[in-house]
Amino acid sequence: MAVLSAKLASAALAFILVAASLGLIEAREAGIGIGIEIGARGKPRQREFDYFNLALQWPGTYCQRTRHCCSSNACCRGSNSPSVFTIHGLWPDYNDGTWPACCTRKHFDEKEISTLLDPLEKYWPSLSCGNPSSCHGGKGSFWEKHGTCSAPVTGDEYNYFLTTLNVYFKYNVTKVLNEAGYVPSNTEKYPLGGIVSAIQNAFHATPKLACRNGAVEELHICFYKDFKPRDCVVGSSSSSDVLSSSNSCPNYISLPAYASLGAGNAESKISWVPDDVL
Ligand code: 5GP
Repeated sequence: MAVLSAKLASAALAFILVAASLGLIEAREAGIGIGIEIGARGKPRQREFDYFNLALQWPGTYCQRTRHCCSSNACCRGSNSPSVFTIHGLWPDYNDGTWPACCTRKHFDEKEISTLLDPLEKYWPSLSCGNPSSCHGGKGSFWEKHGTCSAPVTGDEYNYFLTTLNVYFKYNVTKVLNEAGYVPSNTEKYPLGGIVSAIQNAFHATPKLACRNGAVEELHICFYKDFKPRDCVVGSSSSSDVLSSSNSCPNYISLPAYASLGAGNAESKISWVPDDVL
């Protein structure tokens, strides 16, 4: 009898190990890490992220790329187009410069964030036509791609978007730069080091900038998982070196004012197309 139960026990153990290696047993539900990284289909789960990267876009630069207008492109809102840094995304990242994506198969449901749609339209608008890439097709790539990986900290879809808006409002980059004299201009060039210092002084952390043709296109500010600011990761290492934090930007950079496109601009040569055509 004892031999039989020992055999049964070892068979059961063997089954558990095989089942786990095939992914038949959910070793880790989203958001509850117990250290065993086995996914639903035997694929290793992505390990939990290290820090948050709040990616902001500068419409004055980004909108210069617009070749066609559509209703979802905020660059085409004429005088109502955004004139502040807008949200590109709240990205959960790894310290080595890579990041997890599409961590669970949870789908985006717009109804869950219906009360946030107004501020999201204003401060987290699309600055292009067409759908951004998504995990499983369909809309809502931000939640599916990045939100699901943030879930251990930010929770469900509603909380991911709410948290992002709150962090964006608390760390107001546009205000910090304006107060330091870095105002939108189509003629001025500003020292890169000055812009980085203004953010460092305000938030006590080093941002990361990306430029296009010498103009600021993206500005990233980074946070520990408790949303205290920290230095952004540059390449494969974290750096507090002002200039290496901004390798795609020259030493003097511009912060272009938005040039009106589409609605309300009779001069505009930009054509309108239905959404999602491009
Ligand atoms: P882009 O080529 O425009 O920089 O990035 C395209 C997409 O890749 C972004 O919208 C974002 O979803 C993802 N991506 C780019 N850089 C990062 C990053 O540093 N962290 C994360 N999590 N995603 C990124």
